Amino acid sequence: MTNIVEIFSSIQGEGLYVGTRQVFVRLSGCNLACAYCDTPNSRQFTEQALIERTAGKRDFMRLVNPLPLNDVAQYINSLLSVRHHSISLTGGEPLCQSQSITQLAPLLKAPIYLETNGILFRQLTEVLPYIDIISMDIKLPSIAGREYWQEHSDFLRLAATKNVFVKIVVTGQGKDEELEQAFALVASIDPNITVILQPVTPVNGCEAPLPDAMLIYQERALKLLNNVRVIPQTHKFMGQL
Ligand code: SF4
Repeated sequence: MTNIVEIFSSIQGEGLYVGTRQVFVRLSGCNLACAYCDTPNSRQFTEQALIERTAGKRDFMRLVNPLPLNDVAQYINSLLSVRHHSISLTGGEPLCQSQSITQLAPLLKAPIYLETNGILFRQLTEVLPYIDIISMDIKLPSIAGREYWQEHSDFLRLAATKNVFVKIVVTGQGKDEELEQAFALVASIDPNITVILQPVTPVNGCEAPLPDAMLIYQERALKLLNNVRVIPQTHKFMGQL
């Protein structure tokens, strides 16, 4: 059984695979409380799950959580009748339900893309054999409320055995030193890992960084890393889920 917030087909709006068609599987639960969180409803278990019946049609049915894993696999696979790049396991923090992922993943009929906040190392070891692509966040202390450097470093070292890229959400409140530390952390593991700098979509008093600041951050990152891109959340201005 697993706790699902929603399952639907849409366009990936963030990161290295921006623009690809994916089935999104939003799992409940999160171990953090980021100031800029755009999915606060997924941080706790929800009573009902919203399941899209037809890919991209937004014809959702409501089911009571938790759901049997075989049923969840069936709902996901039925959306794959339209061609998709991959299945995005997202949240919340999907690794909060790592046990469910290990049982669900072998039933799915498309590559699996994990969107994670990059902290839960033990849970990553459990699911890693089933994951094709990892989108790993580095959470800056000014956002997460505390430092996660060691956790991120351990996590990325393991994630780098797969196809991984790192995403860093940058706010107007970000500090130069913490960004420098994040760049150095990735470079110490592999300077060829792609890093996406994502200017925050303003929410909950979180301000977007100034345009000039993004240019400076990218320049600094490129001193240590070989592939650094600046990409905002594109699904928001496309009006996609
Ligand atoms: S890790 Fe993601 S889901 Fe969890 S609080 Fe932060 S932004 Fe929200």
